[in-house]
Amino acid sequence: MAKTIIQVKDLHKSYNDFEAVKGISFDVYEGEIFGLLGPNGAGKSTTLEIIETLRKKTSGSILVDGLNLDNDPNEIKKIIGVQLQASGFYPGLNLIELINLFAGLYNEVVDPMELLEKVNLKDKAKAKYKELSGGQKQRFSIATTLINKPKIIFLDEPTTGLDPQARRNLWDLILDIRKQGTTLIITTHYMDEAEVLCDRVAIIDNGKIIAIDSPAKLIDDLVDTGFERPVQVKKANLEDVFINLTGYSIRED
Ligand code: ADP
Repeated sequence: MAKTIIQVKDLHKSYNDFEAVKGISFDVYEGEIFGLLGPNGAGKSTTLEIIETLRKKTSGSILVDGLNLDNDPNEIKKIIGVQLQASGFYPGLNLIELINLFAGLYNEVVDPMELLEKVNLKDKAKAKYKELSGGQKQRFSIATTLINKPKIIFLDEPTTGLDPQARRNLWDLILDIRKQGTTLIITTHYMDEAEVLCDRVAIIDNGKIIAIDSPAKLIDDLVDTGFERPVQVKKANLEDVFINLTGYSIRED
């Protein structure tokens, strides 16, 4: 049995009178990609940001790698990597300068070129963040989550707005990070993406977890109820056509 690296028990979060998270519990296992899925407003970001120590919970308990969120938030910060929003990057600095800045904040020594190579951005080392394409910006923000060599990385909708090639490129990067032994928690609105990437997913609706399991098990359970897709599925879809015509290589120049 895999080791539990995050344990969330009976988590509640209210914003004034509104209860956004209504008593959710789940475990994340070490080395897995865990997906939080759910409609807008379900409570995904609230849950993630509480675990990331960025938001206060109303009640419940959270352990991250054995550390209690109530007692050791600063120790938790040291072992997690959180993607910054675009506004967190100074527009006038180039990628090397930004990495050095973040490394200084984390008190870490890193080789910026080595880090940029990991996310396939070495040739953009002297470019400014604002000059990057959407996919490159996402890859760079993932690179910044790696600076403190975290055990757990949180990615909130990492592929939203990317073209199919850049999306696949990012999937490879995420799978590669897991291969190094890092645990990842991601949110996404793309179910195909969750199916490809996630070892397990929790589906949240109205502040409650309504299902939690591997994508394959959840699909099998639905099929077992007699569910069938209403239309005959073709052997390919439009995305296959697009990729087949335009190729896998990323275009971001
Ligand atoms: P999701 O990430 O699943 O889209 P959120 O966690 O962002 O959901 O939001 C859950 C609910 O909590 C939503 O109804 C949202 O409007 C509300 N909410 C989120 N942040 C705040 C806040 N700072 N103040 C008041 N309500 C909030």
